[in-house]
Amino acid sequence: MATKKKAVRKPRKGVAPKTRNAGTMSESAFWSFIRSGLRQKSRWWKPITQCKMAARRAYKGPNKRQKFEYLCNVCNNWFPEKKINIDHIQPAGSLRSAQDLPGFVERLFCEIDNLQCICEKCHNVKTQNEKDGR
Ligand SMILES: [Zn+2]
Repeated sequence: MATKKKAVRKPRKGVAPKTRNAGTMSESAFWSFIRSGLRQKSRWWKPITQCKMAARRAYKGPNKRQKFEYLCNVCNNWFPEKKINIDHIQPAGSLRSAQDLPGFVERLFCEIDNLQCICEKCHNVKTQNEKDGR
């Protein structure tokens, strides 16, 4: 009644070989590391600042500590700074390999015509739609 156990060991799912950074990083960890570094740099990208400034107006509501509010380009409501995102109309997309790099950099560091100020809620909806559309 003893059934033979298969000798072939399946590689455990999710354990990727550490091929990068002196054997400490998998391919996907490496590319997300590069991606987050590039994203950090985009914080000082002038068109992003310009887009944010263009969507801003003086806040006249009851919160004394809030100086400005920002217009969402999608739902046309006004939000405090914390609730808005500067969104890439054409998304920067994925960065999973060296081939993705040129396009990713071009789209991430774009000019103001590809940027819009949108609220958290509209941003989440857009991100979800982009995921579903893949
Ligand atoms: Zn919105």
